[in-house]
Amino acid sequence: MGTAIRLMPREESAEHTSRMPLHHAVHWRPRSALRPASEAAVSVFVTPKAYMRACAHAHSDLENEVGGWLLGRYRLDSERGERFVVVDTILPARNTRQGSAFLTFTPESQLELHRAIEEEYPGKALVGWFHTHPRMGIFLSAYDTFLHNHFFPELWQVALVIEPFSRSAGFFVRQPGGLLDPRRYYGFYELTTDRSRSVVHWQNLSARRAQKERSTQ
Ligand SMILES: [Zn+2]
Repeated sequence: MGTAIRLMPREESAEHTSRMPLHHAVHWRPRSALRPASEAAVSVFVTPKAYMRACAHAHSDLENEVGGWLLGRYRLDSERGERFVVVDTILPARNTRQGSAFLTFTPESQLELHRAIEEEYPGKALVGWFHTHPRMGIFLSAYDTFLHNHFFPELWQVALVIEPFSRSAGFFVRQPGGLLDPRRYYGFYELTTDRSRSVVHWQNLSARRAQKERSTQ
């Protein structure tokens, strides 16, 4: 029953590596001055399917907050020395306690999550969570911040807040040192299969073709 002893520190090289898929991405960035001043610990990539699923769930109840989990993978691009996550699966939470201004993950919803990952999505990482703020704006409340730090403590785990009325959203991502600013949000990279078509309709973000952007830096 003793505590497992880790003889060796977890090595950096244990991280899975792959190239950031920038050539298939559109970078959506906040229009407002509330953009964070510093770089995020990870860049967030989202597949069109995951984006549409999250939006569908966000619009499923406009009176109460709804939410769920973001699944996918966490990777290190060793060539760039940058870390990123890819959100490819959305799991709407069913057993949440909903109110007009709060959402909690109950023990039942936690069990459901871990069962779903084991049985349906083996190998996927819990990249973070999302919830809606109907008519409230994009921020993390003190309670949201508590939930994030408690249930999603890894540097690379992120929180997505969606405001369905104004069609806006933002990702809350820790800085490399671990700090999380609950007022300033990041955009994300939309993974595109067809270059001409974007499915993103969030009004507070504006787009740039990711590869073009990177090559001009
Ligand atoms: Zn909230």
